[in-house]
Amino acid sequence: AAGLMEGKRGLIMGLANDKSIAWGIARACAEAGAELAFSYQGEQMKKRVLPLAEQLGSSFVVPCDVSEEESIDALFAKLEEEWGTIDFIVHAIGFSDKSQLRGRYADTTRDNFTMTMDISVYSFTAVARRAAALMPNGGSMVTLTYYGAEQVMPHYNVMGVAKAALEASVRYLAEDFGKDGIRVNAISAGPIRTLAASGIGDFRYILKWNELNSPLRRNVTTDDVGKSALYLLSDLGSGVTGETHHVDAGYHVVGMKAVDAPDI
Ligand code: NAD
Repeated sequence: AAGLMEGKRGLIMGLANDKSIAWGIARACAEAGAELAFSYQGEQMKKRVLPLAEQLGSSFVVPCDVSEEESIDALFAKLEEEWGTIDFIVHAIGFSDKSQLRGRYADTTRDNFTMTMDISVYSFTAVARRAAALMPNGGSMVTLTYYGAEQVMPHYNVMGVAKAALEASVRYLAEDFGKDGIRVNAISAGPIRTLAASGIGDFRYILKWNELNSPLRRNVTTDDVGKSALYLLSDLGSGVTGETHHVDAGYHVVGMKAVDAPDI
């Protein structure tokens, strides 16, 4: 992939640590020659994000809390000031109160429902609109989703409802920006042990189940997701938009427990 992203500049949102899906995507893009900027949620995260950015040859790190319009405006003002235009963005952000990522979906509160939708769904639309304004020559946007949007997964609850809305927003954004040569896609990643995933009830069981029952008989890594993101973000994905692309070792095609899977 060397040279594939040469001359392209992009923003990576959602890097928390070296387990983050954003980190797998950033590495793949940097190895292919992209120049990267990073946004991080709060000041206390800077000390973790800056050294990671520096490993990929970037010191362009900007705080952005996506629940605040002014914070998103400030991020894009900074991007415009430094770079003028951008070629791609990666939105790897989601959040819900962990007390509601277990038990019944039916018990989700109005406050947590609204907050989860705001941070995990609306933020992508808010960011996409501003990013598109900096893409006069076209571009590519990728967000992260999960199979819990399509089928009921244990404990995923309100996040599943939010991811369904996120996937729908990808289709609408693809239509809005398609005329300008801007593509918008989602990657539906299989379960990966990250900070965000640690908030989901019985996550270890979900990981084991996917490993034993997916066609590839393994879980995916942030490397796997990075490589697929590279395809969507680069010219290799030039004919693809509005898509939810599964990077899940094939788990989404499976209808029942594998015959060789032991009981867990
Ligand atoms: P992570 O904890 O490394 O990343 C989540 C990021 O969201 C963090 O960087 C956090 O700072 C950021 N964030 C949360 N609230 C924010 C806010 N208000 N403003 C700005 N940033 C905010 O975990 P991850 O698993 O890499 O998550 C990235 C994305 O991938 C999420 O959308 C998640 O739902 C999705 N995803 C994860 C898995 C998995 O199993 N880990 C599977 C499919 C999809």
